[in-house]
Amino acid sequence: MSSAGYCTVCGTMLQLRRPDNDTRDRLICPGCGFIHYENPKILVGCSVTSRQRILLCQRAIEPSRGLWSPPSGFLECDESLEAGAAREVFEETGVVIDPELLVPHIITSLLDIKQVYVSFRVDIDDCIVTPGHEALNAAFFSESEVPWEQLAFPGMREYLKLMFNEHADERYSLHVSRIADAASTRRGFHLLTDRYQRHLLK
Ligand SMILES: [Zn+2]
Repeated sequence: MSSAGYCTVCGTMLQLRRPDNDTRDRLICPGCGFIHYENPKILVGCSVTSRQRILLCQRAIEPSRGLWSPPSGFLECDESLEAGAAREVFEETGVVIDPELLVPHIITSLLDIKQVYVSFRVDIDDCIVTPGHEALNAAFFSESEVPWEQLAFPGMREYLKLMFNEHADERYSLHVSRIADAASTRRGFHLLTDRYQRHLLK
């Protein structure tokens, strides 16, 4: 019987075992009986575009410090998905976005790190970018300017290519995908959407 961590209710060391009538093992407190369910956290992000350029920020914190990605971060408990995405954009780039204007764009199950990434998109007029404390830098990039070799997270390259292709075509879709092995390469990126798959197979 394995254990991992301590009960946040009573402080007893937790044990991993299967509750009655459950289908998988859970972290259970032998002291007070509390079952500590583990469920995925929600990451929110946003692709902010302006004049065929995309807003990226250079991460100031781990993981992937120094690498680039669209603004993203964990959803807070009192936020809607759109409000969280807009907040992350503002915190990391200083750009103010109206949450009501955000359109759902990407839903990715990050299985290994137990997170679900929900990303929106919005196209805006020119604006001033001021990197926040969680970003070393932030700026809009055209496709040729993107630091393609310094992108954070598996699948980011494909995601940005998709964004630019959609912009060029002025045709957008909602994409659902999953990353099964974030620690390895982008080959772990399994795609469930025809359009996304066609893009990757080019
Ligand atoms: Zn307990």
